[in-house]
Amino acid sequence: MRASSRRNPNGARLMTLALIKDVFRPKVVDRGSLRRYVLSVTAFAWVISIFVELTNKLWFFSGWPDLWRELAITTVEVNVIAVPIAWSIGRAHLELRLAKIEADRIGRVDPLTGLANRRAFYEAAAGFAGGAVALAIVDIDRFKRINDANGHAAGDNVLKAVAAFMQDQLGALGLVARLGGEEFALLSAERPAAEIRERLQSFRRALAEAPTPVCYAGIRVTVSIGFACRNGADLDSIYAAADKALYFAKAAGRDRVVDFDDIGEAVAAARLRAG
Ligand code: GH3
Ligand code: MG
Ligand code: MG
Repeated sequence: MRASSRRNPNGARLMTLALIKDVFRPKVVDRGSLRRYVLSVTAFAWVISIFVELTNKLWFFSGWPDLWRELAITTVEVNVIAVPIAWSIGRAHLELRLAKIEADRIGRVDPLTGLANRRAFYEAAAGFAGGAVALAIVDIDRFKRINDANGHAAGDNVLKAVAAFMQDQLGALGLVARLGGEEFALLSAERPAAEIRERLQSFRRALAEAPTPVCYAGIRVTVSIGFACRNGADLDSIYAAADKALYFAKAAGRDRVVDFDDIGEAVAAARLRAG
């Protein structure tokens, strides 16, 4: 080990560069790195001070006892000044970093339901590289009526209850997000389309049955779901397909799941209903 560092003339230079980087571009991410930062700053200040002291002594050397005394005084001074200053600067860096992490988290969470928000949804979708991607858009039926009949606060509680139930029932399949208003999404690249469809059906059925875990203060809720699964397609085209399927689910009478690939059947059902 020692032999190799002796053979490597760059070792000391790299260590010095690392120390300077630690001091001037601190990366304080936790209490461990905060301690390291304080140590680096103090060591840096000490090296500079001792260097200045020794250089000074080249001209004004007044004996060894004097030199040791002054080096000791310098060491104490450096510690007394550098440690608290470096500690407060390091703490400020750490707090800034933690605040940034929290702001990033808040920026990706829907404040009402606690689900991922639209931004987090698009970010997750951008992370999918090729392969089959399934998207279900879940829209609460006649939600405006729920608001009108029970008040906006009750409507909010229904949204929270539906979100929690959706996360509970479908969360294991992929990302559950609130796209906005009374519209939610399940984005999955993890399971076969047939399994997702089946789980969507049972979720929808469980919601429609009363009493359900979601039935808030006696308010019954149903949802319509548009589903699409595509191989290697971009999010925009999958979204358009799921949205179209949702449109047909509404037109066919609501409280149902429509797969984009089965839109023909949904149209026939709607025609049948219309007589
Ligand atoms: P459809 O079955 O066709 O989807 O009918 P709908 O009434 O659910 O759809 P519409 O788009 O007509 O109404 C959606 C309503 O959702 C209108 C809006 O006031 C309400 N809404 C949107 N966001 C919120 C929210 O955060 N809280 C509450 N309480 N209501 C919301
Ligand atoms: Mg709706
Ligand atoms: Mg809607």
